[in-house]
Order: sequence, then C-alpha cells, then structure tokens
Amino acid sequence: MNLAVIGTGYVGLVTGVCFSDIGHRVTCVDKDAAKVEKLRAGQSPIYEPGLEELIRKNMNEGRLHVTTDLESAVEEAEIVVLAVGTPQSVNGEANLQYIEQAAREVATAMNGYKIIVVKSTVPVGTNERIAARIGGLTEHPFDVVSVPEFLREGSAIKDTFHPDRIVIGAASREAAEKIKELHQPLTTKMMLTDLRSAEMIKYASNAFLATKISFINEIANLCELVGADVAQVAQGMGYDRRIGDSFLNAGVGYGGSCFPKDTQALIQIAGNVNYDFKLLRSVVEVNKNQRFNVFNQLVRLLNGLHHKTVGVWGLSFKPNTDDVRDAPSLEIVGMLLASGAKVKIYDPVAMERFCEMLNDPSVICCSSASEAASNSDAVCLLTEWDEFRHLDLKHIASLMRQPILVDGRNVYTAEDLNGAGLIYRSVGRPMLS
Ligand code: NAD
Repeated sequence: MNLAVIGTGYVGLVTGVCFSDIGHRVTCVDKDAAKVEKLRAGQSPIYEPGLEELIRKNMNEGRLHVTTDLESAVEEAEIVVLAVGTPQSVNGEANLQYIEQAAREVATAMNGYKIIVVKSTVPVGTNERIAARIGGLTEHPFDVVSVPEFLREGSAIKDTFHPDRIVIGAASREAAEKIKELHQPLTTKMMLTDLRSAEMIKYASNAFLATKISFINEIANLCELVGADVAQVAQGMGYDRRIGDSFLNAGVGYGGSCFPKDTQALIQIAGNVNYDFKLLRSVVEVNKNQRFNVFNQLVRLLNGLHHKTVGVWGLSFKPNTDDVRDAPSLEIVGMLLASGAKVKIYDPVAMERFCEMLNDPSVICCSSASEAASNSDAVCLLTEWDEFRHLDLKHIASLMRQPILVDGRNVYTAEDLNGAGLIYRSVGRPMLS
C-alpha cells in the first residue's frame, strides 16, 4: 500500500520505517527541514536502537522516502498517518494545535478517497472533531481511523513488529478492514472498536501503568519506614499472574513524553464531564513527590548542598533513548543547582538534548560515569543504563571526595557493593553497603 506518515518523531519515524520494512511504500513527511535533511543522508534524528540501519535499508531498497512536501506525499498516498505531537498545555489538557494543523494541511492536499489514520494520542472525541474539520475543507471522500500507538522508546522497533495488540477504532467497517490489512504481516491480536473507545484505551492503558509505578513507589516509601525490602516485595507480588511483574520497579518515578502528559490529559478529560478522577490525581501527586526523595537523601547525607559537588548518572527518562522530555533528571538537576551544588552530569546518549532543554551553562558535562564521580561529594543514579551496572564501584569510590551513592533506580545489589566502600542509599530497600 502507499502511505504518507506526517511527523517523523519517535512514533512517526518508527511507524513509517517499520511499515516500509514489511513491504509498503512509505513517504515520511516532516515540516522540520533539518530532520528531513538528516534522514535523507541516512541518519536518524533520534536515538533508537536499530532504527538507523532500518532507515538505510529501506531507503536503499526504494520503499522509504522522506520529504517536507506534505501535499505531494498526500496526493500519492491511499493512507495518511498522522503522528504529530500532542504535548501538554499549561492547564494540563492535550495541546491539539499540531494535529489540527496537520489535518487541515492533509484536507487541502486531498485529491481522492483517503483513509486518515490518527496515531497521535488524542482526547476522546478528537477523531470525530478532526473528521468534521476535514469534511469542511474537502469535497473528497475519506474515513478517519484511530490506531493509538503503544510502542516504548528504547524498544520501539521490536514493539512495532511484535505489538501486544493493535487497536483499530473506526466508524466505517470497510476502512477498519483496510487498516487491518495494512497491519496483516504483524501477527498479533487486532481489536476493532469505535473511535471513542480506541482513544480511551490509549489513555486508560498509560494511566494504569502510571498507577502501577506510583503504587509501588508508595509501597517503597512504606517499606523504608517498616524495614521491608521493596525489591523482594515486588518480586513476590509479581509472581501473581493477576498482578504481573512489570512496572513494579520502585525509583524516582515515571517521566517521559507520555505518562506525565497523558495522565494530566485524562484528569482533564474527566474534569470536562464533571468527573473527579481522584485515583489518577493521587498517582500524579505521588509521582511528583517521588522525585524529591533522591534530592532529600542528598541534602541529608551531605548536610546541605551549598558548595558541594554532585555527579548525576543518567539523564534520559529511561534507558536506550535520548528523550529527556519530562525526565526526572531535569527537575532533580534543577533543584541541585538551585541549592548551590556544582553538578557534573553524564548520560551515554542524552547529553545534548538534556543541555538544550535544561539551558543552564553552569552544569558540567562529563564524558564518562567515572568523570562525573571524580571529586564529587556524592553521585546519584537517575536512569538505569546498562553500562552503570558494570562499573567498578570500588574504583568509583576511590575517585570521589566522599563515597556516597544515591541510587534512584535500585540498580545495585548487596553483592555489587560488597567491599566497594560506598555509603549507599536506594529506594525502599534496607541500607546496603
Ligand atoms: P515528536 O514530538 O517526537 O514528533 C512529532 C513530529 O511531528 C516532529 O518532528 C514535528 O516536526 C512533526 N510535525 C508537527 N506538525 C507537523 C506538520 N503539520 N507537518 C509535518 N510534520 C509535523 O512526537 P512523538 O513522541 O513521536 O509523539 C507523537 C504522538 O504519539 C503524540 O501524540 C504522543 O503522545 C504519541 N505517542 C508517543 C509515544 C512515544 O514513546 N514517544 C508512544 C505512544 C504514543
């Protein structure tokens, strides 16, 4: 099939590249000319394992194209996928300006029947509103189909090729069947539903996962007070198939471009129909407070932060991505700097994006975990990159002014710490050292 994918961000690019890899002809469109230029040169504008290789392969084989010219891409396509951002507005609602603009541009470029697939996460009722807008701008027939995206950054390609499910929301049975056919090579459960339910499935899924994280963080905080070990507790809970073991890692809380904005948006969606989503409001509040725990530990252990040096390991909101949007690191580094600490940061891939977003020249960029630890009074670990698991902690301790490690992701075990000589604190576990 011929596809145009509008937006080459974390979702649009991976979607376009994976569809081309299963044999469709795909044109990826972005209004950001620099991104398109980079892609044309066979380079990925984002860090996502395996993506660059797939971009090159499918470009060389002639199935994948990139352009800033939305009009021609839409003219040539039977299916147009909208994958532009829906960031958070100041009041917490999803900001729909990009999706509305993209829908307008698609409507005016249409030259015949098109199926418009909305992959962006949008509040319930938005697909219907988009359909009404497009209908007001074009004489050509079309259908709008909601196919919410569930990929995880860092494993986006695997998630796209092997999703747990594909949700297809549509008012038209024929359009839904066509989109089912588009996904056919992916052998997974495909669920056909209505537009509003599809939109809600996305928000409900993210809100549920965020709830699991905040729940285990509350249990972790309680474990600290009663002398239990949250890692053991989560393991024991996870054996119960009704609970499952994923999303039960206690730490500094969730971040990223989805959970924070999608939980806020769902609270707003509820508020708009006078429903007070109390549980979700608490989930958000617990998550906000969780970021303070690491900071407070540092203040306590260092007796204040003024003139102290703190190394920070890990800046991206999770490992294997360079995405720092709403990452706990932004807030924690901000608090450290505001408290008068000198902050030395290190992340394997997210340094550039982090510095751009933090925009504070006083932060000191390091090229390795040991450089960030050197002459520091403490180090705090905020992202569980694999390379941090393999550090020689004894050597790290020898480089530090004070051998203090605050582990915001519960990466290390008693065995790892054995003989390292570190003062070690983690989240919801007994003191190990
Ligand atoms: P992103 O910000 O990384 O990318 C959006 C891209 O769209 C940008 O490159 C931007 O330049 C481009 N764009 C905006 N308007 C355009 C227009 N009119 N024409 C052409 N290009 C345009 O966003 P993302 O992280 O890929 O997220 C996209 C959507 O998918 C959001 O609704 C998000 O909530 C949802 N989602 C994201 C993830 C994730 O892990 N990032 C997972 C599931 C769902």
